[in-house]
Amino acid sequence: MECPYCGEELKWEDYYGKFKKGNYWTPIYIDKVGDIYICENEKCEYYQEHFYTDPNGYLQEGYPC
Ligand SMILES: [Zn+2]
Repeated sequence: MECPYCGEELKWEDYYGKFKKGNYWTPIYIDKVGDIYICENEKCEYYQEHFYTDPNGYLQEGYPC
């Protein structure tokens, strides 16, 4: 995934999702919705800013709630 502002490859930081009730062996699991990335280009005005992919796979600014 590339930063929409500077075009640099974003660093994958984490993924996010909804907590779901599982079964006996895994009582709670995360149903993955998308990935969280961070821009590491110091020259980019979005340096250290977060981006995430929404459920449709589009890159959004900020942090998922
Ligand atoms: Zn950037």
